[in-house]
Amino acid sequence: MDNIKKLIQQQFTDEHVSSINTTQDNNQNTDQPVSSINKDNKENHQDLASSEKNIEEEVKTPMDNQKTSSTKDTKVKEKMQEPALIFIPPVPTDPQLLELYNTCLTCKACELCDSALNLVFGDGNPNAQLMVIGEAPGADEDEQGRPFVGRAGQLLIKLLNKYGVQREEIFIANILKHRPPNNRNPLSSEISACTPFLRKQIEIIQPKLLITLGNFSSQYILETKTGITKIRGVVQESSYGMVMPTLHPSAIIRGAYPVDLLEKDVVTALQYIGYDVKLED
Ligand code: SF4
Repeated sequence: MDNIKKLIQQQFTDEHVSSINTTQDNNQNTDQPVSSINKDNKENHQDLASSEKNIEEEVKTPMDNQKTSSTKDTKVKEKMQEPALIFIPPVPTDPQLLELYNTCLTCKACELCDSALNLVFGDGNPNAQLMVIGEAPGADEDEQGRPFVGRAGQLLIKLLNKYGVQREEIFIANILKHRPPNNRNPLSSEISACTPFLRKQIEIIQPKLLITLGNFSSQYILETKTGITKIRGVVQESSYGMVMPTLHPSAIIRGAYPVDLLEKDVVTALQYIGYDVKLED
């Protein structure tokens, strides 16, 4: 549990430190108004920069000019040669899932396909015992066409790994297959349009247990309006099969709930499907 807490703590610390540094850099003397500090800093910086430039110009030789320009050229060339990251969305190998994937690729049942970069169909083991269901793709997922590749996904996978489960063993999907603009909440019309694909995925995979993450997927699958904090942690029956509703890892990363609750639910889910694991300290 310590490693997982360290991961969350590190993510917070990185963000916090960078925000503190930025604030401190901009505002070293907090007694002064920000606008006056920024103005003073700017003027000081301009003065310093112009005197440095004068000194440099005085001592520069034609050879130096040539060197500077060739260094710049090299840096520009190096930058241009950096390989661009290209993500290839996973395509199912299972024939039934592949057929469904192709249907989703051309789906125009709601407008999300117009704004999204990629279809995020879901990926993993077509014979998985455990299927994780999130809400909708975020920015990272949209870019890569793969579910749960952002920080929330990494936290969940790290927890599963801790108890001996690899990402490739499970199947991960979302309620929606295309990203809502700016990560807004799914509309009920979009959920109605897209969930037949999810139902079909579950029928094909036939997992022993679904883990639903957060309010949207848990309430949809369990057909309830009760909040996730009240329904989480207990394996329950639904029209989609047996379900373990739990907290969304992004809520843990935001600091809304302790990671221990998510870990406890993950362990209960693994025990339900037959894993010989127990909650570690
Ligand atoms: S989000 Fe679902 S229903 Fe909407 S276009 Fe994409 S696949 Fe079709």
